[in-house]
Amino acid sequence: MMAVPFRRTSKTRKNKRRTHIKLAVPGMVKCSECGELKLAHRICKACGSYNGRDVVSK
Ligand SMILES: [Zn+2]
Repeated sequence: MMAVPFRRTSKTRKNKRRTHIKLAVPGMVKCSECGELKLAHRICKACGSYNGRDVVSK
C-alpha cells in the first residue's frame, strides 16, 4: 500500500472501507455441549460446562 494524502480519502470512503472491521466479536466459539455462542477458554454461560465437563453446580 502506498501512502495517500489524507484528504484524498473522504470520511465516507474511509468508513466504507472499514465496515467489515470488527463485525464479529473476537474469541466467540460455539459451545461443544449446547451449541450456544460462548467466549473461548471460558465456561459456557448457558450450560455451565468447560472442556466437556460440568463445572458449575446447579
Ligand atoms: Zn454450553
